[in-house]
Amino acid sequence: MKDLLGGKGANLAEMCKLGLPVPPGFTLSTEVCNWVRDHGGRYPRGLRTEVKKALERVEGDMGRRFGNARNPLLVSVRSGARVSMPGMMDTVLNLGLNDRTVEGLAKRSGNGRFAWDAYRRFVQMYGDVVLGIKARKGEHSSPFARALDDLKRKRAATEDTDLDEKDLRQLVKTFKGIVLRRTGTPFPENPNDQLWGAIGAVFGSWDNERAIAYRRMESIPDDWGTAVSVVAMVYGNMGATSGTGVAFTRDPATGERRFYGEYLMNAQGEDVVAGIRTPQPIAKLARSSPQAWRELQAVQSMLERHYRDMQDLEFTIEDGRLFMLQCRAGKRTGFAAVRIAVEMVKERLITREEALLRIDPASLDQLLQPVFDPAAIQKARSAGRVLTRGLNAGPGAATGMIAFTPERAVAQTAAGKAVILVRIETSPEDISGMQASMGILTARGGMTSHAALVARQMGKVCVAGAGELEIDHERRRMTVAGRTYKEGDWISLDGTSGDVIEGKVPTRPSPVIRELLGRRGKGRADPVADAYHSLMRWSDSFRRLKVRTNADQPDQCRTALALGAEGIGLCRTEHMFFEGSKIDAVREMILAEDTAGREAALRKLLPLQRKDFEGIFRVMGSRPVTVRTLDPPLHEFLPQAEKDVRALARSMGIPTARLRRKISALHELNPMLGHRGCRLGMSFPEITRTQARALFEAACTVARKTGKKPRPEIMIPLVATAKELELQAAEVRSSADEVFRRRGMKIPYLLGTMIELPRAALTAAEIARTAEFFSFGTNDLTQTAYGISRDDAGRFIPLYLDKGIFPRDPFAGLDEEGVGRLMEIACAEGRASNPALKIGICGEHGGDPASVDYCHRLGLAYVSCSPYRVPIARLAAAQAALRSPMEKN
Ligand code: ADP
Ligand code: MG
Ligand code: MG
Repeated sequence: MKDLLGGKGANLAEMCKLGLPVPPGFTLSTEVCNWVRDHGGRYPRGLRTEVKKALERVEGDMGRRFGNARNPLLVSVRSGARVSMPGMMDTVLNLGLNDRTVEGLAKRSGNGRFAWDAYRRFVQMYGDVVLGIKARKGEHSSPFARALDDLKRKRAATEDTDLDEKDLRQLVKTFKGIVLRRTGTPFPENPNDQLWGAIGAVFGSWDNERAIAYRRMESIPDDWGTAVSVVAMVYGNMGATSGTGVAFTRDPATGERRFYGEYLMNAQGEDVVAGIRTPQPIAKLARSSPQAWRELQAVQSMLERHYRDMQDLEFTIEDGRLFMLQCRAGKRTGFAAVRIAVEMVKERLITREEALLRIDPASLDQLLQPVFDPAAIQKARSAGRVLTRGLNAGPGAATGMIAFTPERAVAQTAAGKAVILVRIETSPEDISGMQASMGILTARGGMTSHAALVARQMGKVCVAGAGELEIDHERRRMTVAGRTYKEGDWISLDGTSGDVIEGKVPTRPSPVIRELLGRRGKGRADPVADAYHSLMRWSDSFRRLKVRTNADQPDQCRTALALGAEGIGLCRTEHMFFEGSKIDAVREMILAEDTAGREAALRKLLPLQRKDFEGIFRVMGSRPVTVRTLDPPLHEFLPQAEKDVRALARSMGIPTARLRRKISALHELNPMLGHRGCRLGMSFPEITRTQARALFEAACTVARKTGKKPRPEIMIPLVATAKELELQAAEVRSSADEVFRRRGMKIPYLLGTMIELPRAALTAAEIARTAEFFSFGTNDLTQTAYGISRDDAGRFIPLYLDKGIFPRDPFAGLDEEGVGRLMEIACAEGRASNPALKIGICGEHGGDPASVDYCHRLGLAYVSCSPYRVPIARLAAAQAALRSPMEKN
C-alpha cells in the first residue's frame, strides 16, 4: 500500500494490524496529492466530508473532541511519500490548539507547563510550515527560534525545558505577534482552518525546493506525490516520565546486530533529530523508563522479523506508556548494507537471493575506498593534530578544505576543490552542499541527527556532534583545541573512529582490499570484509555474465583479479606509451618522414611493448586478454609546450622550426572524429603489424616460460566498414603467422572489433564475417549516436537532465532506446552471419548496474569495467540474472 498511503501511512497501518501501540489516525492518499497538484490546489469533491468522518472515528477512539475546549483532541499532520525522504517534507504537531483548548489541555493533564509548551511548539511549526515564516536572507535562524533564544538568555536557561509555564505563555504571545507582523493576519484560532491549512501545506511540501533537489539526486519521479497522515497526538513532553526517541534494530553505520538509538525525556518530535539537546544513548532507557524499554525491545524484534529487514523506529513515551509513531526500512551505509544482508541470511531471516537483490551495487564502492593509515593517525595524534573526536556517523576517510556554508561547498567543489562541510548542525536545506562535499563535520547532533542520517545514505564520510568545536558561522571561523581555523584550511575526518584531524593525512587501502591483496596481516577478521566475501561468492553463483576489467598495467590487473575480474576486456595500448622512455620512441614514430623512418622507430618500440604484454600475460595467466590496437589521434602524444618542443627537436637532431611545422601539420579540427582508430592502421599498417608482433611474441614467451596458455584477443577500434576490418585483420594474421613460424609454436587467439560507430552496428552482418568477437565501445557509440562530444557535453547535459530531456546522463547510464537499439541490431545481425560470434562491452557503462542489467538482457557474454567497479558489476550481473524471469533456477 506504500504507493497509495506513503511509506509512513502504510507502515502505521501495518503496525496497527500487528496490534502494536499506535495512536489512531487516518491517511489522505498520494492520489489526492496528485489531484490537488493537477487542479491548482482545489480538493476533490467529498474529501472534506470523508476527513470529517475519519476525524470523528479518531475522536471516538481517543475519547476527546477536536476543538473542544474542555477535552481537546490534538493531531499531527504528517507528510510521507512512497519512499522515505528524510526531513525533506513537512509535518505539523499539536494541531488543534488555540487560546481556549490550551486551557482545557492544561486542566485535563493537570500540567500547565506541558500544555503551553505544546502550544508554543504548534505556533512555531505552523508559522514555519503553513504560513511560511522563515529566516530571511542574512538571518541565521527563524524569528521564532531567535525569540526563543532571547528568552532563554534572559532566563539564563540552557535548555528549552528550563523555561516555566509563565515563560511559555509569554513566548506564545511573542510568536503570535511575529505571525501578525509577518503575515498581516492573526494566527488562525479555528482548529478546522488549522487542519486544512496544514493538509494543504504538507501536500505542497512535495514541491518545495529541497524535496525537488532530493528527488533529482535519488531519481524519484515527480508524479509520485506525498500522502498526508493525520495522527492523534501522544505527548513526550509531559514531564520526567515522558520522552521521545528514534532507534534502529541494527547499527546503521557498521551493520552490527545491536539495538541502537537515542532518546530524550520530556521532549517532543524533532527534538532528538534536530540536535537542540544532546540525546541519551538508547540503552539508558532501561533505567529511566523500564516498562517502556521492555516493550520497545519486544516491538523492535517483532518488527524486524515481520519486515525481515533492519528497521528505523520512532517512538514516544507518554507518562511511561510506549507509543510507536513510525517504522521503515532503515537507511544504512554500504558497509552496513552488506553486513546486515549477509548476516540475515545466516540467521535464516532472508534467502541469498533476497540478500543479493537488496544491496545497491554502487554502494559496494564504499567498502573499497581507502581509509586513513592508522600509523599516520598515531603520528598526527602525538603531534597534537588530532583536534577532537565526534561521533563516527559515516565511515571512511575524507580530507578537504573547510567550507562553512553549503553554497560555498558547492562552488568550491565545482571549482575542482576537495571540501569538508563544517556546520553546527545540518538541515534539509543543506543537502546540495552535503552532496558536493567529501565529508561532513557537525558540532551538534547525535547518531540519528539529520547530518548523520543523510550522510550515511549518501555514503559520505561524516563526523557528527563534535561538541568541542566552536563554530562561528557569521565570521566563518571554527575554534577547537585552542586553535582557530578559517574557510579554506585543510582538515581530515576519520568517519570510522570519529577523529577530526588538522591538515591532510595519508590513506591506505580499505580492509576489504587489503585482505583481497593478501595484506591483511594478523588481527581479527573484519566482519564487513567477511560479509563482502560471502556476498561476492553468492553473486558469482547466480550471474551468467562474465566480468572483465579495463586495465593496461600488471598492477591494475592484479588488483582487478583480486576484485574478481575474469579477464581483460580492454587493454589500451596507448596508455603504455606514456611511460618512461617509451614516449620518445612513440614520438619518433609519429614524426618520421617516411616508412623507413617509422620502421626504425617501431623497432625501438617493439621490445618495450613486448615487455608490457609479457607483464600482463604473466598476471592474467590463461584468462582472456583483449588488446586494442592504437586508437587516439596522434597529436595527443606530441609535446605542446615550447620548451618540450625544443627538447624533443634536440633529441631527434632536427631544427625546432621543422618539428613545429610537423606538429601543426598533425593538428586536426575535430580529432575525435579524425585520423584515429583503425584509420591510423590503414595509413600506417606497420604500426598494427608491430603491435601484433609484440603481442604474439609476448604470448609465446610467457606460454613457454610459465606453461600457462595466454589467450590474446586482438581488437581493432573505430571500424566503420567491413573492408577496414578485413585489411587490418590481414595485417594481424600475417604478423601472427610469422611469429608462430619463427617461434615454432601456435597460440590460439581471437580477432575482433569494437562496435563504436553507428555504421558498424548497422552493417554488423558484414563485419561479423571477419570478426570473431564484437566489443561495444559504448563511450564512443554514445557520442556518435547522439552526435555529442563527451568533452563538451558538460555545458548542456545538466540542463537536459533538469528539463527531463535525458532521464540520465547517457555517458553514465546506457541509453537503451537509442544506443541500445544499435546494440540490438549489431547483436542480432552479427550472430546471424556468425553464430560463433562472442559479444561483450568495454565502455565504462560496463560498471553501471542498470547498464549491466541491460547487457544481461541483450545476452552478452561479458561486461568489462575499471578494476574498482568489478565487484559492482559482479553483484549487478547477479541481480540481473535473478530479476530476469526466464532464468529462475
Ligand atoms: P519526518 O518524516 O520528518 O520524521 P514525522 O511526520 O515522522 O516527520 O514527524 C516528525 C516528528 O514528530 C517525529 O519525531 C514524530 O515521531 C513526531 N510525531 C509525529 N506525529 C506525532 C504524534 N501524533 N504524536 C507525537 N509525536 C508525533
Ligand atoms: Mg518521522
Ligand atoms: Mg573508442
